[in-house]
Formats: sequence, structure tokens, C-alpha cells
Amino acid sequence: MKYQSTRGEAPILEFGDVLLAGLAEDGGLYVPLELPEIGSADLRAFADLPYTEVATRVLTPFVAPSIDEDSLGRMVEEAYGSFRHPDVVPIKDLPAGGEIDHHIVELHWGPTFSFKDVALQLLGRLFEYELERRATSITIVGATSGDTGSAAIEACRDREGVELVMLHPRGRVSEVQRRQMTTVASANIHNVSIDGTFDDCQDLVKAMFAHSAFRQQYRLAAVNSINWARIAAQTVYYFTTGTQLGGGERKTSFCVPTGNFGNVLAGYIAGRMGLPVDRLIIASNHNDMLTRTYLSGLMEIRQVIPSTSPAMDIQVSSNFERLLFDLSDRDSTWLRTAMQDFRGNGELPLRESLIAGLRNVFDAGRASESDVEETIADLHSATGQFVDPHTAVAVSVARRLEPGKSPIAIMSTAHPAKFGAVVEDATGVAPVQPEEIKDLFGRAERCADLPNELSAIMEFVSSVAIA
Ligand SMILES: *Cc1c(COP(=O)(O)O)cnc(C)c1O
Repeated sequence: MKYQSTRGEAPILEFGDVLLAGLAEDGGLYVPLELPEIGSADLRAFADLPYTEVATRVLTPFVAPSIDEDSLGRMVEEAYGSFRHPDVVPIKDLPAGGEIDHHIVELHWGPTFSFKDVALQLLGRLFEYELERRATSITIVGATSGDTGSAAIEACRDREGVELVMLHPRGRVSEVQRRQMTTVASANIHNVSIDGTFDDCQDLVKAMFAHSAFRQQYRLAAVNSINWARIAAQTVYYFTTGTQLGGGERKTSFCVPTGNFGNVLAGYIAGRMGLPVDRLIIASNHNDMLTRTYLSGLMEIRQVIPSTSPAMDIQVSSNFERLLFDLSDRDSTWLRTAMQDFRGNGELPLRESLIAGLRNVFDAGRASESDVEETIADLHSATGQFVDPHTAVAVSVARRLEPGKSPIAIMSTAHPAKFGAVVEDATGVAPVQPEEIKDLFGRAERCADLPNELSAIMEFVSSVAIA
């Protein structure tokens, strides 16, 4: 398989190169030239196969020819062996045994209790494999609104040939999220808190990648969902969920708490590969840029307002570019100027055909902070179940939709204990904290506080990178 940039001016690459490159040289995002197809016989078989088997079958074509199937299979087994649930990604009815066809897909059984582990546990191993094969090293630079950071750190700590610098917006991640990052004592892990928002952090990372001399000198690599390997790894649970709920024939809808658009994009890709998908529902909190775009056809940047679901406090969702690329029939010439205009003006009107394409597959809704609180409280009193605020955004949006013909799989992206304070405020009851989270509070933290300035971050990166 070969990969091209959405902006059409970067070299065509194989998986191993794309894995290490992250963002393309022209500022675009890598996507496969052609998607593999999963046939109906495979889909029917998937419903009964273990998660790791489906993962290996779905991902093999994406990683070929860089990585062979046996090596991939070994990495998949190791990555998902670190999960605390035997099904890796279990599905529960909502409400338990209830009459409405809503299901909760628990993506949070990995080492750091968020769905980010699903992709990153595999990514850390893919990096190590590829670096050993090439006898080289990289400096991973990432931005996190909370969960990517800890999941990336957990996946990359002490890995050979990897230094990791993780930027987070100071004071805008939860205490558990911060401690999950800053208490890791490994020498190859470097935390930085930035005086700014998540979008500022993401812009700093993008600007650093756009600086090609710097990027080459320190062999910068990305773990954000601009890295295609993450999107590919996330398609797997759409296949396992869709085939378990629909037997590989009946369509499933997915309701996804959305920030950077990586999770829901993976659902779109799974659909393009042959999974019967009905609706993909983009669920936003009050930072609802995507929902507004869906309704009005105008992409428009506004201020980020902090919420109780910080992983979704985003106005510019990087992966939306991959969708626009596909919806525009891969028109990289248009996309290149459109994305520059968008950056310059803070807005981009989408043409009719794109809006129609978007509405054809997606649906969108927003949940306010009080919707989130009510949903958490209501679910708890009705079923005894706790959900975290991100998941509650999706449950709230799904419940307000016109009922459709297909089951709705609601993606639960974080363990409730990770956002225990919000859950306790809503329900009056604190969710039980797993030992791994309790332990964090007694440990020393390590983090550099830096201003929102590219030069300061670049200096820091050069001081820790492997020369
Ligand atoms: C990252 C994250 C999201 C948003 O996912 P995207 O792929 O960025 O849209 C939602 N919920 C939680 C808990 C997350 O960590």
C-alpha cells in the first residue's frame, strides 16, 4: 500500500515512512491511495473472532509491505494483552437489557483508561519495530488535551530509540490526566506545560513540523491523530462492534464524542472499507465547531471554552481535512488553498456538494454542560452505571436523535474514574478509583513550564533530542 498527502505536494510513501513522518512535508495529512476492501464473508466471520485476530486481518494491508503479517500479529497480541478486559473492547446494552437499541462500546480498558490506548499501545510497538529495522532514532513531539499524552507516554516509555516531548495546556487538563503524564519517571519522557489552549499546543507542534530543517535534524515524529497508523488501528473496533451488533449484514450507527475527528473518521474509513454503517453521529460539547459546520456549511473558528469533557475542547479538528479530501474526490489542489484560507480568515464556506456528502453519512449534535450533568445523573439513577463526561456527551446526543432503524453504538471513550470529580458532582457518588489511579497522588511530578512561543519549545526539544 502507498500513501499520499491530502495536499498533494509531498512524496508518496509506504507505511513505515508514514508512521515515522506524521504530518506530510506539505502540511497535509497522509492517506492511503486506495483503501483495502473487507468482503462480506470476512465481515460475517469477524463477529465471532477475538479482537486481536480481527485487528491483524484488518491492519495487515495497511502496513504492507513495510511490516509482515506475523510481525504485526505479534505486536497486536502484545498491545491488546495490556488491556484489562478479555474482550479488549466490550459492548454493553444501554440501559442494561433495555428496550431501546443503544449500546455502550467500552474503549477505555487500556493502561491509561481512555480510548487513546487502543491506537497508541500498538503505535509504540510499531515505532520500536520500524526504528530497529532502520537502526535509527526519533523525537516524538505531541500535543494533548489530556488523554493522548498519558497514552503516548505509557506506550513509548523506555522504548529504544524514542525521546518523547508532550505539550499540554497548563491548568486545562484534569489532575488525574496531568499526574498520569508527569509522574512517569522514564528518562525518555519529557512533559511541557504551555501557557495557552490545546489548539495553541497543536499549532506549536504543527509549526515545528513545518520547519523542515529542524524536523530533519531531530527526526521529529508524531503520535497525534495526524498519524495515519492511529486512524487505521481505530477502524478495528468499528469492525468488531458493527459485526457483533449487526452480524456483518445489518447496518449499525455509531455515536462518537468528537474532538480532533480521529475516532469518528476511523468509523467513516471502516464504512468505506465495506462495513455496513448507517449513520455516523458527531457528538460535540459546547465547543461545537463541527456541529455548526454540519448545520450551516460554514467552517468557522471560535474561542475554545473549557468544559467538563476537555478532550473535546477543540475548535480546529485536524482530521476533518482527511474527510474533506475524500468528499471532494481527492481534490488536493482545492484543499491546499482552502486550508490556507481557513487558517488566514478563520472561516471556510463549504460548497453544496461537500455539505451534501457530509450530511449523507454523518449526523451531528451538541450537548451543553447541563445536558452532560443530567445524563450522568440519569444513567446512574436508572441503571447504576457510571459514564464519564465525554461518553455522556454522546449518550445525550444519541438520545435526542430521531430513532432510526439501526442499533446505535455509543463510543465510551474514557473510564468514569478518570473524571471522578465530574461524575461525583453529577451523581453524589464517587466512582471507585482503580489502584493505578489512586497511586498517582503520592508520586513526584516532572514538567517544564514554557510560554506559548515556538522558539522556546524548539530550544527545549533540541536540548532533549538524540542528536
Ligand atoms: C481524544 C478523546 C476524544 C476525542 O476523540 P477525537 O479522535 O479527537 O475526536 C473523546 N473522548 C476522550 C475521552 C478522548 O480522550
